[in-house]
Amino acid sequence: MKTYGFAATSCDAPLAPFSFERRELRDNDIAMDILYCGVCHSDLHQARNDWGCSQYPMVPGHEIVGRVTATGKAVTRYKVGDAVAVGCMVDSCQTCDQCRKGEEQLCREGNTPTYNDKDRITGERTYGGYSKHLVVREEFALKVPETLDLSRAAPLLCAGITTYSPLRTWNIGPGSRVGVIGLGGLGHMAVKLASGMGAEVTVLSRSNAKAKDALALGADRLLVSTDDTAMAKAASSFDLIIDTVPVKHDLNSYMPLLDVDGTLVLVGQIGPLNEPSTVPLIIGRRRIAGSPIGGIAQTQEMLDFCGRKNILPDCEMIRMDQINAAFDRLERSDVHYRFVIDMATLTPDTAAA
Ligand code: NAP
Ligand code: ZN
Repeated sequence: MKTYGFAATSCDAPLAPFSFERRELRDNDIAMDILYCGVCHSDLHQARNDWGCSQYPMVPGHEIVGRVTATGKAVTRYKVGDAVAVGCMVDSCQTCDQCRKGEEQLCREGNTPTYNDKDRITGERTYGGYSKHLVVREEFALKVPETLDLSRAAPLLCAGITTYSPLRTWNIGPGSRVGVIGLGGLGHMAVKLASGMGAEVTVLSRSNAKAKDALALGADRLLVSTDDTAMAKAASSFDLIIDTVPVKHDLNSYMPLLDVDGTLVLVGQIGPLNEPSTVPLIIGRRRIAGSPIGGIAQTQEMLDFCGRKNILPDCEMIRMDQINAAFDRLERSDVHYRFVIDMATLTPDTAAA
């Protein structure tokens, strides 16, 4: 199938129109028209080769919502017209212990990311959601609950599951005290999800500028992480802190905020941090952990939870040809709180322009 999208062609080139092929349907594949795609900070990291593994041309995008247009002959879960979603992975070995537990993101052979990787069968490049169509095996497609507004659901597929998963791992519920470092795409979903689970939520932001937004999103308060006095007063007051900061940073000011046995879970920076002191870890029996996205079953659980509670991200809709300006704003943390590309604005003309 011929299709088109926007691609990065090098680490310093702006994204530009790109035509390419999607594979013919295998028996267990569905084809979908992409209606909306969220813009994750990981897309920016990957386009710019921040993680040193980028291959070009690269079509980013792993927060994908659309409708099924065709099904392979062995497909049982979906039919033409269904609202479906695809997140950060499109395949895994399906046989190892982690895959069998539904933790495909932790596949022993490595999962196949939605873009910037290779198809497990043919070795063809995988291309993401900044495009018009997608072909994916049915096991890696999710059902979007009828009650969710499709135009706002896309960011749940990465920002949503990446913050939902640690909230579930650490059994967050009524009475839990959760901190969220960084109020961006992941951070604002962490606030909505934790507060939807009944937790008491504090946003830790670099300034007071987002205080009103934090409360509107469901947080109980905003703590300015650069205010030493306020930080000292908040010592030992959290069970879980979700750290979404996308760059190298210092954990030393955050660790004393955890109560005994509390955990700071890193979901943002993938790479080095400033040297952490072990003092608050040892003295308060505190922990540092990490967490990658979430499994397919848990992603469906998260979508269903959001469907029941009507939890949706705050989105700013953009046209496909505004993606480079959106990347610049993402880099400056000027997003309220997730860009979503309206794929109706990607036409063969846009792609040829
Ligand atoms: P984002 O929308 O840009 O939000 C990041 C937030 O972090 C900003 O809004 C800002 O909040 C804070 N921040 C930014 N620069 C900072 C700095 N220099 N120092 C301290 N705080 C800073 O990004 P996102 O889409 O939420 O993604 C966040 C990170 O998660 C990215 O690195 C992405 O690659 C990663 N990620 C990981 C996974 C996973 O599986 N673990 C999945 C998806 C994304 P304030 O202005 O409130 O301080
Ligand atoms: Zn992402």
